[in-house]
Formats: sequence, C-alpha cells, structure tokens
Amino acid sequence: MTTLGLAASGQAALAQTLFSPPPALMPVAARTDRMFRVTVCLRPFRAAGPRIEIEPIAGKTVLHHYGHGGSGWSLSWGSAMEALPLVMQTGAREIAVVGAGAIGMTTAITAQRMGLKVTIYAKDRFPDVRSARATGTWSPYSRVAMESAATEAFATRWERMTRRTFTVHQSFLGLAGTPVEWVDQYALSDTPFEKRPKTVIAMPGGGNDSFVDYKDRVSDLVPRQDDLTSGSHPFPVSFARRTSTMRFNVADLFHQLESDFLLAGGRFVPMEFKAPADFARIREKVIVNCTGYGARALMKDESVIPVRGQIAWLLPQSQVDYGIQYDHVSLLARRDGILVQALGADESFGFNDPNEEPDHAAARASIEVVARAFRPRPAAAAL
Ligand SMILES: Cc1cc2nc3c(=O)[nH]c(=O)nc-3n(C[C@H](O)[C@H](O)[C@H](O)COP(=O)(O)OP(=O)(O)OC[C@H]3O[C@@H](n4cnc5c(N)ncnc54)[C@H](O)[C@@H]3O)c2cc1C
Repeated sequence: MTTLGLAASGQAALAQTLFSPPPALMPVAARTDRMFRVTVCLRPFRAAGPRIEIEPIAGKTVLHHYGHGGSGWSLSWGSAMEALPLVMQTGAREIAVVGAGAIGMTTAITAQRMGLKVTIYAKDRFPDVRSARATGTWSPYSRVAMESAATEAFATRWERMTRRTFTVHQSFLGLAGTPVEWVDQYALSDTPFEKRPKTVIAMPGGGNDSFVDYKDRVSDLVPRQDDLTSGSHPFPVSFARRTSTMRFNVADLFHQLESDFLLAGGRFVPMEFKAPADFARIREKVIVNCTGYGARALMKDESVIPVRGQIAWLLPQSQVDYGIQYDHVSLLARRDGILVQALGADESFGFNDPNEEPDHAAARASIEVVARAFRPRPAAAAL
C-alpha cells in the first residue's frame, strides 16, 4: 500500500482518470426530425419567495406552501422541512396535502417520515403536473425571489432549504432507475466568457427589480468550473468550461416518490378545488396547500407570477450523458429524452408570460443552435 492507501495499480488508474484528456463525447443528433414533443411549463414565481404561512379557511387549518419559482425540485425537501413544523404545532396526526407536483410529493413524504398519516388530494398527478415539464437540474438559485422583497431572514431560510434538499437528493444516488445522478455540464462560447450584468425586470405592478443572486452562499456544494484548453474537449468552439451538476431524471424520480408515498401508507384522491371554500370537502382538518402556479387562480393570489419556459424533447441517445449551454440555449440529456431549452438573452425571458401553448418554430430554432454547437467550423483559409 502507498501513502494514499491505494494499491499501485489503483493509483495508476486514479492518475489516468485525473490527468488524461476527457474521452470523446458522443455528439447529440440535433435534428428536428428527432423532436418528439414540445412542452411548456410556468414557474410559480413570488417576489418574496415561496409562501409558507397558515391561514384558517372553511373551518380548516391551511398551511400554504407554494411559489418556488424556477427552483421547485431543488428546494423541495428543505422547503418541506421549513413548512411542516407549523403543521406539527397543530397536534394533528392525519393531514391532507393538496397537490402532487414536486412540492406536494416531497411534503407528503417528509410528513410521513415525521410520523403523520397523509392523503394527497390533487387535480393531476405525474405526468400531467407542471413539475413533470421541468428541466431536471440542480438549480436552487433560479428565479427564487426579487431583491426588493426578499429579506435577510429569507436568504438564511433559502440557504437552509438548499443544503437540506441537497442532502436528501444524495440519498437517491445509485438507486435502480437512477432518479438522481451527477453529470458533466459544458458551457460553450465563441467569445470569452463574461460575467452577465444583472437583469432588470419590469414588475407587473410597476417599477423595476432584479432576481436575488444567492449562488455564492452555497458555492461549496458543487464542484468548481474548469476552463478547458482547446484540444482537451471535442466542441468546435473557442471557449469551454466543464463542471458537474446533479440531474433529476424526472420520470424515474416521480415513480420513486409515488412508490415511496404509497408504501408508507399514503393515499391519492383525485379532486379539483375551484375556490378556497372547497377545502371544506376534505376530511382532514389540517391541509398543506402545494398547488404551485395553480394557487394563483385558486387563491386569487396575484403574488404568484408566471415565468414561462419551453422545452423541445429529442429522442434519447444512450451514449449521450451530459449537458451543454451554448448561445442562450441549454441542453440536458436525460434517460427519458434530450431536453433543449431556449434561455433567452437574459433572465427576463418568459417573465409574466402565462402562455402555455407550445411554440414549435422557437423549438426548432433552439435545436438548430444545438446543431451549431457540434458542427465543425470551416478551417481558416491558408495564407
Ligand atoms: C421550463 C422550466 C424548467 C424548470 N427546470 C427546473 C429544474 O431544472 N430544476 C428545478 O429545481 N426546478 C425547475 N423548474 C421549476 C419547477 O418546475 C417548479 O418550481 C415546480 O414544478 C413547482 O412544483 P409544484 O409542486 O409547486 O407545482 P406543480 O408541479 O404545478 O404541482 C401542483 C399540483 O397542485 C395541483 N393543483 C393545482 N391547482 C389545483 C386545484 N385548483 N385543485 C386541485 N389540485 C390543484 C396540480 O394538479 C398538481 O398536482 C423549472 C420550471 C420551468 C418552467
């Protein structure tokens, strides 16, 4: 054994992994004839961050738990851990959760782990919920709150949510069906990377604001980005960076969550609520309202602002197992498809846009950008 505690052969293999250039990557077949669907999702954004508060409604104790913006999957478990102590204070042993998206499922399972009996009431389940149309990447900093509305107390709470969610997601690594995995992600550019200026957002009620940027608070959670020298990566661009990110294979993750919930004695009841008074139809006295963007109509809560995002789905390729970002388009290869998403020139893209109709021309344009990221550049003309 050596000082590192590895046999010599193990050390040689480790050195090989660390110091040799990355293996050639299988290119994405970025062709519109491989596109099998286009989906649109609305991020349930709130300027002050997710709503977590109790309100008595129709003789029930309702704990609101919605408005997780572009970070629902990434804040889910930790957000449930912030919300559920309020339920425990009521002394209830049986509760209802309204909603079966990322927030409803993780809230229900966290409540079961705290010893509660849980029934989920929801209009839709996977695959019809909006959470099924998310990209599936670790993005706890995406469209979480606005600078003018978010307090320091919220920033501290956000950090707690983020760290706790990160920890729970790790417990899904390596499971059959691969609900959660780490994958490499490449940022590609034809020009040097520059720090993007803060985006100014025109708010619906008037005035300008900017999204909070909490990235630095949790920079220890993700590996740092490495600048790749030309020749050490296969992309025909002048600038490339590589990092690793957590990927949620959303179909697998939903199946895992639904199975866990049912195995722990949970029950699903299909039910739609047209108005808050309809909560009286629920048998349980304590209800956690995880209706996401649906809360805007149900609670007439205009603090929930839609932030539209569209994904073009390409047929999966078993050997394509990474993500890229290039020219305002992101790509993430998942088990259930290769997801291509236009990001727009800045973070105002899709803000306050409630249109859930797919735009096929825009989907085809984003696939063409991906195709460009893999197309060899013509050699410079000889002098
Ligand atoms: C394009 C795009 C990409 C995204 N990518 C990511 C990502 O990579 N990582 C990440 O962390 N986040 C991502 N997000 C954000 C994430 O998708 C959301 O934050 C998350 O889906 C919100 O989950 P939810 O459970 O609150 O809402 P939903 O998934 O909308 O679930 C709401 C539930 O409530 C039910 N419901 C609603 N209204 C009623 C009613 N009136 N009566 C009965 N039931 C009702 C619904 O049927 C459903 O079951 C993305 C969002 C978009 C738009």
